Amino acid sequence: MSGIGLPALEARLRQDLEYLELPAKPWVPERLAEGRPVVDVAVIGAGMAGLAAATALRLDGIERVSVLDRAVEGQEGPWVTYARMETLRSPKGLAGPALGLPSLTFRAFFEAQHGAAAWEDLGKIPRGMWMDYLNWYRRVMAVPVRNGVEVSLIRPREDGMIELDLAHGESLVCRRLVLASGRDGLGGHFVPEMARGVDHRFWAHSREEIDFAQLRGKRVGVVGAGASAMDNAATALEVGASSLHMFVRRAVLPRVNKFTGIGSQGVVHGFAGLPDEWKWRFLHYAGAAQTPPPRDSTMRVSRHPHAYLHLGCPVTGLREEGRGVVLETAGGEFALDFVIFATGFRVALEERPELALIAPHIRLWRDRFPQPPRQESEELATSPDLAPDFAFQEKVLGECSALSRIHAFNYPATLSHGKLTGDIPAISAGAQRLSRAIAAALFVEDRETHFERLVAYDTPELLGDEWPEREVAA
Ligand SMILES: Cc1cc2nc3c(=O)[nH]c(=O)nc-3n(C[C@H](O)[C@H](O)[C@H](O)COP(=O)(O)OP(=O)(O)OC[C@H]3O[C@@H](n4cnc5c(N)ncnc54)[C@H](O)[C@@H]3O)c2cc1C
Repeated sequence: MSGIGLPALEARLRQDLEYLELPAKPWVPERLAEGRPVVDVAVIGAGMAGLAAATALRLDGIERVSVLDRAVEGQEGPWVTYARMETLRSPKGLAGPALGLPSLTFRAFFEAQHGAAAWEDLGKIPRGMWMDYLNWYRRVMAVPVRNGVEVSLIRPREDGMIELDLAHGESLVCRRLVLASGRDGLGGHFVPEMARGVDHRFWAHSREEIDFAQLRGKRVGVVGAGASAMDNAATALEVGASSLHMFVRRAVLPRVNKFTGIGSQGVVHGFAGLPDEWKWRFLHYAGAAQTPPPRDSTMRVSRHPHAYLHLGCPVTGLREEGRGVVLETAGGEFALDFVIFATGFRVALEERPELALIAPHIRLWRDRFPQPPRQESEELATSPDLAPDFAFQEKVLGECSALSRIHAFNYPATLSHGKLTGDIPAISAGAQRLSRAIAAALFVEDRETHFERLVAYDTPELLGDEWPEREVAA
């Protein structure tokens, strides 16, 4: 049996929004800069986080929002670009970016097209279908996205606003800026130093475009044991790699997804309120335990007889030799044709050209919080030290006050806020926290105008004829 169809779901969504009187009526006073209209909030990135943030802002009555993404429409984020898993890891029923609106959930989107019985039969969400859902979300919530627009520089202005340099000499002025620029939004993908001197045609990071067809009949190595490592290994095997070697530093694969195990509304709303040493303790523990690769992805690799898992086998070097490379490891040397580093991401502000003017002023955790003994972590130490509204804070007070109006709504916010800024489960809670904080700040900032509006408001509710004159005491 098929579902009610998307047009009917969209009518229901419109009705729900009307019942809730959403979006709230616009209330932010308009501003101009050099005669040009100012955007209240600009959002860099139209992936899941950017769409959820922009939608939350508009539901809260902040109307002048502009979302900018360098990707072409429908190609934002990893889902149909460098993600190589068959399905999402997340359970299908998560409400994700729906912001409390039942008709905006993935389940509503799926059931409208395929029916309730198909929902019961669905295992996990195919990743292409998740991208279809995000595209639909963007359309039905009329998220104002401009695609093919790269933000090349963020410029704090004298007047407290922020100017964004876009490609082709264009620029935009905004009052608040949200960085929803993704997993690598404050840095880049991490490639071990050993790869630097080796011709790039022999290796790639899992974040990069890889021409897998070229790997048919080739000896492929994959460094890492996370979800991306497995999915890249599986993809290479499925196109016909002649052998596939996975190199894993630790002696056993992690089996338990620790942080998911304590997922609750308590964690979502309480993490930001933890004392610093407890934030660190939670994330250090979860990080050290590591997240296991999904079982499906692991079996997608292990089913191939020419896939080999080398545990307790850290890689120590890489060199070109003959027509391929030799990967040096604790378990010996391996002659390979291609190596994929599934070695994750890191914060490295200096690697993001758009951050060049503000990066030197951004305070990281390591600038303020001494790493607890035996809990050292480069990843945690380089996390930005964010305010309760996700805004950056200054290393030296007074040197770059614009930072208080630039909000990091991407994965590196995790140590300050918990997992509210990247993964599907709590993205709505993150977007609402961000939106309400920005709404509050804009109101306070515009208090004079709001006071003038208060004084000027003169629509009477009583018309003066409610009491007959003879009954009014002198
Ligand atoms: C392979 C993979 C699988 C994942 N699977 C799951 C899963 O199953 N469940 C789960 O909960 N999470 C998963 N995640 C984690 C998370 O949900 C995703 O990373 C998700 O894409 C995060 O959304 P985002 O909006 O923060 O970033 P992205 O989706 O990466 O979007 C960021 C956008 O910003 C744009 N951008 C960046 N800089 C600029 C600039 N200067 N100018 C213009 N545009 C810019 C980029 O083009 C990009 O489109 C996965 C992540 C990866 C990498």
